[in-house]
Amino acid sequence: METNLKRDISSTELETDNNSKKLATIDDFDDEYFQLQENKRTKRNQKNTVHSEIYLDTINRNLLDFDFEKVCSVNLQTQNIYSCLVCGKYFQGRGPKSHAYYHSLHQDHHVFINLTDLHVYVLPDDYLVEEKSLNDIKNVLNPTFTEEDIKNIEESYKNVKNFSQISFSYDLTKKSYIPGYIGLNNVKANDYINEISSASKKKFIMLKQNDPIEFLSWFLNSLHTSLVQGPKKGKTSIIHDLFRGELKIESQHIVDSTSNSAPQTTDNENTENKKLFDLTKEVQVKVSPFMFLTLDLPPPPLFLDDLDKNMIPQVDLTTLLKKYNGETEQEVEGVIKRYKITKLPKYLILNVKRFIKAFKLPVTKNPTIVNFDLTLDMSEYGGGIYDLVANASHEGKSEGNYKVQLKLGLIWIQIQDLIVEEILKEMICLTETYIQVWQLREN
Ligand SMILES: [Zn+2]
Repeated sequence: METNLKRDISSTELETDNNSKKLATIDDFDDEYFQLQENKRTKRNQKNTVHSEIYLDTINRNLLDFDFEKVCSVNLQTQNIYSCLVCGKYFQGRGPKSHAYYHSLHQDHHVFINLTDLHVYVLPDDYLVEEKSLNDIKNVLNPTFTEEDIKNIEESYKNVKNFSQISFSYDLTKKSYIPGYIGLNNVKANDYINEISSASKKKFIMLKQNDPIEFLSWFLNSLHTSLVQGPKKGKTSIIHDLFRGELKIESQHIVDSTSNSAPQTTDNENTENKKLFDLTKEVQVKVSPFMFLTLDLPPPPLFLDDLDKNMIPQVDLTTLLKKYNGETEQEVEGVIKRYKITKLPKYLILNVKRFIKAFKLPVTKNPTIVNFDLTLDMSEYGGGIYDLVANASHEGKSEGNYKVQLKLGLIWIQIQDLIVEEILKEMICLTETYIQVWQLREN
């Protein structure tokens, strides 16, 4: 009784490895107690094998889901969290006053995994279990892939001609999934999105639909930034190597647009009646890197609801790309600009500007249909042939929802939330495309 009391006073609720060392020093005051603990430990180690075999049978893989945010189900803390492998619930700590410890006593659940270091313990006895049969759980909790693994996956996808040829993987509940093509539950996958939310300083939060191009742009830049820190500081990253191209931007301020002898153009005629650069005046030239190219749609018809669906304007992707041919001129707030692609990346990201965000007005969507093929000839821009490998599309009005289509071998996979299914490649071109990723074809 007396030793128990002392133990209570000297122990903290959270017992990390560091803390256990500290505890031992405090406990040194009572040699008798310390010796008692030592004896217990030795005894436990002798019984380990027998114990683990009994307890490991109680693990219920069907109840394990590590996609939840790692939060103690009792005190909502996020540090030092264990998952009960019997019921799947999360608890903080494993020391004698911790929630995991209480859970083991009250619910008779005894196997816990530390969600950070993946060590498995039997509680309340508190001994470490090292069993290869637990590796499937550890692998789901913290999937890791070697370069070799990735190569093998890529290789196995290469010649896939139909869905059934895909080599599926299986989760803990024996449900099949395709590595690299995993749906995310809109609400439940908040572990992943919470990471994003805190990493992005709350720029991207759950339950609020965000613009995927803003997210992609932030994501690629963040990846780049974290990759160039450390030993490779200041150098380029794989992100820049793959996605970054270069533009030459020429711009000139319009001093007095009415002095031009040509009649004033209206917005609709803009594209046909070019406002030429005034070569007698200064033209500013700068070279600017890009991670994606924005494509402007022609303005939508004003009263779309009254129009027949057939009247929705259509435009070719190749027409939209002419913005970057170094000749098309556009006026933005009193400045004429010309863009010319001077370097194309291996992966070209295009963003069709569908959403119009006017100050204090609700976001509206431009429904213009963009016609495109699954291959894109960029030779006019100093590049080669590109193949579409990913397409994100938007359905519905400005709210609506996003779907993504990804190439897998010779077929296409569509992902919407948790639904992962094959889609005919002919269907890709009919989607209201929003973001496209094109891969330069190797010769
Ligand atoms: Zn439990």
